Amino acid sequence: MQVVILGSGNPLPDPERAGPSTLVRTSAGDLLVDCGRGVLMRAAKAGSSAGALRALLVTHLHSDHLTDLNDVITTRWITSFAPSPLAVIGPRGTAAVVTAVESMLGADIEYRLEHHADLTWRPPVVVTEVDAGVVLDDGAVRVTSARSDHAPVRPCLAYRIDDGDASVVVAGDTVPCAGLDALCEGADVLVHTVVRRDLIEMIALPRLTDVLDYHSSVGDAATTAARGGVGTLVLTHLVPAPAPGTETEWLQQAAASFTGTVLLGTDLLAIDV
Ligand SMILES: [Zn+2]
Ligand SMILES: [Zn+2]
Repeated sequence: MQVVILGSGNPLPDPERAGPSTLVRTSAGDLLVDCGRGVLMRAAKAGSSAGALRALLVTHLHSDHLTDLNDVITTRWITSFAPSPLAVIGPRGTAAVVTAVESMLGADIEYRLEHHADLTWRPPVVVTEVDAGVVLDDGAVRVTSARSDHAPVRPCLAYRIDDGDASVVVAGDTVPCAGLDALCEGADVLVHTVVRRDLIEMIALPRLTDVLDYHSSVGDAATTAARGGVGTLVLTHLVPAPAPGTETEWLQQAAASFTGTVLLGTDLLAIDV
């Protein structure tokens, strides 16, 4: 199994970091967790594509995690030569978002159906709204979800992907919580959204300091990783985007409470599991 950080950025546009998105390449195909800004550009660089996805896993319905859902739906549709349903797995409310995106694409869908004689079907999307539990079982590959805590964003899910003996947890946006702890137990890799509490508090702008109460700090993520006994912690969705030369600060903050390997996420960082 391989994990590729497609987008390590936060909601603010960044020339070096795409929006939140993680690709998990399994023996049953590619699983995409969230689809933030620029996801398919980064997927192309990683050698994947909308058409290659076994499923899209949605952690929650914040826009930065879903910005390019329309691109995933459209690109998969127009690059398929037979109906190829996109499986979307997400929390309650996901189906309504997909329906709204399909509605937004209405004119485009009609244009393309009219223009291409061989394209006779609409974009097929199969949404499965899930809660905690096993949400996908492909034999060797199993995806388990648990409720995370990103209140007032409810519901919000974290995912664990097991492929044989290898395991990856994608935490999404959350503060430390029991659901995430359960998923992390003995995982090889934990991909975790983080904010730098020390830097955000210095900025003292309410729109920014508000993010502190529903995100994990670097130390929080490290403590979660340590409690679960995970092997490698990957920091992503970095708030604020690290200034050049400050990378070691992030790693040191995590290392203060976690003795495993810590990686600071960059776009296209790939981890073999
Ligand atoms: Zn969020
Ligand atoms: Zn987010």
